Amino acid sequence: MQDFFTDEKINQSAFIDVSDMPFTEKAASYCKANLCGRYGRSWSCPPAVGDFNTLKARALTFDKAFVFSHKGDIESFSDEKAMDSLRDETMEILFSFCKKLKEKNISHLALGCGSCNFCKKCTYPDSPCPYPEKAIPPVEAYGVDVSALCEKTGMTYMAENNEVTFFCIIFFKNK
Ligand code: SF4
Repeated sequence: MQDFFTDEKINQSAFIDVSDMPFTEKAASYCKANLCGRYGRSWSCPPAVGDFNTLKARALTFDKAFVFSHKGDIESFSDEKAMDSLRDETMEILFSFCKKLKEKNISHLALGCGSCNFCKKCTYPDSPCPYPEKAIPPVEAYGVDVSALCEKTGMTYMAENNEVTFFCIIFFKNK
């Protein structure tokens, strides 16, 4: 699968057995703290997406996971436009992998960086999500401790200077 998950924009990447994935209730609780303001406002986020135990159980139905990071320099962390643009670039990489997996009929589950922002205004909770394939939940919703994941895989968690790093995960069934 190494050749499958290639994109020159990727900074670092690793494969990990899903049984080694560091799921913690503490990491999942950050969503409820609602620092991003998206808790209870998107089909892709808690509580709509499911509770920690349900999501962890769903992830554990897969056996392997591919993790990747994408980074960029941003002059000011308060520059939301630049942050959104880097995040969108990261999600495009993730979407391209999902497309390839779908074409190959490989069962998978993708976790992205941040809440789904595909629509100008999320339809939650008034009507069903019209684009479920775009409604990718964030890594945090599944309670993945990204810092611990980086320690396990040898990936770099801490960014330097003005760098911002986004992480995505794809769980898949290793045929
Ligand atoms: S695709 Fe649209 S409706 Fe669905 S979760 Fe994303 S923003 Fe909400």
